[in-house]
Amino acid sequence: MRFAIIGAGMSGILSAIKLREAGFREVTLYEKADRLGGTWRENTYPGIACDVPSHLYSYSFEPNPEWSHRFSPGGEIQAYFEGVARKHGVDRRIRFGDEVTRCEFRGGRWHLETKSGHRDEADVMIAATGVLHHPNLPDIAGLSDFEGALFHSARWDHAVALDGRRIGVVGTGSTAVQIVSALVDRVAKLSMFQRTAQWVMPQENPAYSEAERAEFRRDPEALRALYRNLSELFSQSFSNAVVDAGSPQMKLIEDACRLNLEQSVRDPELREKLRPSYRAACKRLVISPDFYQAIQRPNAELVTAGIERVETGGVRTRDGRLHELDVLVLATGFRADRFMRPTEVVGRGGRRLDDAWSERPVAYLSISIPGFPNLFMLNGPNGPVGNFSLIEVAELQIAYILQLALLLRSGRCREISPTEEATARFDAERVEAAKRTIWSTGCRSWYLDDRGIPASWPFTFDRFRAEMAAPKLEAYERVG
Ligand code: NAP
Repeated sequence: MRFAIIGAGMSGILSAIKLREAGFREVTLYEKADRLGGTWRENTYPGIACDVPSHLYSYSFEPNPEWSHRFSPGGEIQAYFEGVARKHGVDRRIRFGDEVTRCEFRGGRWHLETKSGHRDEADVMIAATGVLHHPNLPDIAGLSDFEGALFHSARWDHAVALDGRRIGVVGTGSTAVQIVSALVDRVAKLSMFQRTAQWVMPQENPAYSEAERAEFRRDPEALRALYRNLSELFSQSFSNAVVDAGSPQMKLIEDACRLNLEQSVRDPELREKLRPSYRAACKRLVISPDFYQAIQRPNAELVTAGIERVETGGVRTRDGRLHELDVLVLATGFRADRFMRPTEVVGRGGRRLDDAWSERPVAYLSISIPGFPNLFMLNGPNGPVGNFSLIEVAELQIAYILQLALLLRSGRCREISPTEEATARFDAERVEAAKRTIWSTGCRSWYLDDRGIPASWPFTFDRFRAEMAAPKLEAYERVG
């Protein structure tokens, strides 16, 4: 059997490793960029780090004794993925710089076309195309008039000098907060343009000492135990809290955020500007050891007046003030409902993904789509994103997908896709469960779909693990 994987980020690399381990030799990864790494290749902004502890944000089978910090910086994470891909020979299977533009299921196989005109066929396609991938460019008047440097946080222009200059950051999400903390002491003036305040969870980020790293090297079992403990801690505290807005764990998180605000921000006026009017974790919780300290520096300003327009010299706010800037960073997030689009995907009988998803993305258990046989997604729609280590999520998903692939290899069927009924039933149940989650408690966020319903896994993480343990074959239509 031949496999085509779209995307050589965290989950594409993982898929290639696991397919090879299962004995599948014909595996090609298509990567539109000239480097692997996905989100860690694209996001190189100052201060970037992962807010899942590094020893959990690692493949379970590739623990890394060398992590420098509890939450290690993005460059280290990128190097980790490159190292793992090299070690497992995945880098040799990647077709770099060639974007898959079209794939059609015809005659029992997927037919792929790329931007360069290359064609390929595969029995199984795996979309490992990421979630927070397509930059959201805000609809702010006058953006093109700006005469300084202007870029989205995921397209950082490292040729632009920052030191001693006047920097504006639009947004207050996890990205903006990391940028502000990293830059404030380097620049002349830092203006953060806030549309909505965010709750901030304090979290120290200590470095591992050489002695600790040596101990991890010496005792791999201790490292594996640390992974298991962190995983358990995460699912029992944060991941299960967010799906039950009334849970005691949720209250603990809210109390910690409130205390952080009260204790860290001295000026009562600034404190009130920074106080959100919705519950903590309704938007993706911002985790930072030092944001409140950064925004209180004398050269930092939290601008809450609202952006009227961008002009040649800076940002004009609704109070009539011009904030003069040399650099304007749009930390305005991502279009989280795109997934593998804009690739044109055509399923059985000419069914188009654009039509199947014309209202919004739908998937059975976040993995597969009715009418699109032998196509599987990692970190697809309605999965547990934003509140867990996406690596563990992807590992559980690929183990599930492998069971379906083995079914195909056994010859018991040639095509497999979820039934419309199972997908509709799952979707109805998840929409109902979404009402109890913290994301439904009244705020705007990238979790919400066009109807305001959270498009994230609304059940516990234990349930996710249980669902991923073995496919329920009655939910699938099997042909051949
Ligand atoms: P985000 O959380 O979606 O935040 C986007 C920000 O831009 C919000 O403050 C939003 O304001 C603002 N914004 C958007 N359009 C605007 C407009 N037209 N005018 C003014 N403000 C506008 O994006 P993100 O910070 O890039 O983070 C995305 C996700 O990536 C996070 O939630 C997290 O899951 C992940 N992430 C994780 C880490 C980490 O591990 N440390 C770091 C970065 C990102 P409103 O709130 O008013 O909409």
